[in-house]
Amino acid sequence: MNPSTPVERIEEKRARLRDHASRIRAQLERMEVACPGTLTVRTKSCGKSTCRCSTDPKARHGPYFEWTRYEDGKLIHRVISREQARLVADGIEAWRKIEELMVVWHARTADLVAAMKRHK
Ligand SMILES: [Zn+2]
Repeated sequence: MNPSTPVERIEEKRARLRDHASRIRAQLERMEVACPGTLTVRTKSCGKSTCRCSTDPKARHGPYFEWTRYEDGKLIHRVISREQARLVADGIEAWRKIEELMVVWHARTADLVAAMKRHK
């Protein structure tokens, strides 16, 4: 049989979970945008042999900003402007931070639930 988790340990876990939840709220408070995906910056050659881009790498066209993400299970690529790309970059950073916080939140919640189960 599993030894039961002492009540103090459960209270400790609960307190850690409350701290974590308040850190999440504080971080969300500062976030304006959040989005999944990746942002790619690339330059292109137009394919015309008379264009400088065909011989000079510095003359390639662009930069082009591309936002890639899954939507309804489908991979979506979208070319966006530099201004949109700034917003998307902030959104992706926020999204990753939120995901990290969720992983820890989940783990601590599952840990608390498991500790409580043995403590009817
Ligand atoms: Zn060209």
